Amino acid sequence: LQRRYASELNEPALTLDGHRVHLFLNAGLLSGVASEIADGADGIGLYRTEIPFMLQQRFPSESEQIKVYRQVLQAAANKPVVMRTLDVGGDKPLPYFPIKEENPFLGWRGVRLSLDHPELFLVQLRAMLQAAADGEQLKILLPMVSHLDEIDQALTYLEQAFNELRTDFNAQLKRPPIGVMLEVPALLYQLQEVAARVDFVSVGSNDLTQYLLAVDRNNPRVSSLFDSYHPGVLRALHAAARDCQSNGLAVSVCGELAGEPMGALLLVAMGYRELSMSQGSLAKVNYLLRRVECHELEQLLELVLQMSSGYEVRELVREYLSSRE
Ligand code: PEP
Ligand code: MG
Repeated sequence: LQRRYASELNEPALTLDGHRVHLFLNAGLLSGVASEIADGADGIGLYRTEIPFMLQQRFPSESEQIKVYRQVLQAAANKPVVMRTLDVGGDKPLPYFPIKEENPFLGWRGVRLSLDHPELFLVQLRAMLQAAADGEQLKILLPMVSHLDEIDQALTYLEQAFNELRTDFNAQLKRPPIGVMLEVPALLYQLQEVAARVDFVSVGSNDLTQYLLAVDRNNPRVSSLFDSYHPGVLRALHAAARDCQSNGLAVSVCGELAGEPMGALLLVAMGYRELSMSQGSLAKVNYLLRRVECHELEQLLELVLQMSSGYEVRELVREYLSSRE
């Protein structure tokens, strides 16, 4: 079966009724990126920079970061790469930067930490800008944004990094598109204001689910309650797609849901046209999307949104899938 999926990987993810979906790769390690990009992804939709940081004994220097980011951009050939600024804290500790907190998922993580440590943040931004030079590939993504002011502050630092490089090296750099992760529910209600500040949004369905349901995504005791197919979560995702569209804000999904066959179908039904997923999901999602009709998925979504539990949603989508085999 895997071979059957893989045989079409280089074909575009085009539904039977002609809707093109762009499929991207989630990456954090360099190994394998090159071959996977060559193997059918439209680019890297989420490069998690905390992963190379986690493998070090100390914060990597600016020149070390430039080297890593340049390799990632090169591996992606000329395809776009969304680089996320450091997203440590929560479930992602840095061995050389211990954080002790009662509620790490509600604590000092993502952009909060970067804004409190501009000396680290500026180095990372400078490294990204230099790695990309004047290329068109790079997009920069901010994790765990909960207040508009955090976006404004981050943009100010980006401007500073830009100006420093221009002065230091007389460098002709290009301003990359900037995006924010939609992971904190409050931001769902501020997409108009987000659109006035940035170029794109990337929905982190893992954290968005965690925060909408108040369920720790890594706690086995409550793992049965962590459910991205919860009708409330699906309605939030649906509303986000609609509000991004109406505000002219480009949007993609990069949480696990985007790489699950049932999740990908529902997201496409909601109107998402960019999905980013781990390498293992790419071929299967592509294969599946090439065999469905978007308008059928929209009818399915209407029914799905009336269900009362994630269990019922999955049963319904499973039924739809088996009727197509
Ligand atoms: C997410 O929260 O859905 C996401 C993609 O980010 P991470 O899993 O790295 O927290
Ligand atoms: Mg996240």
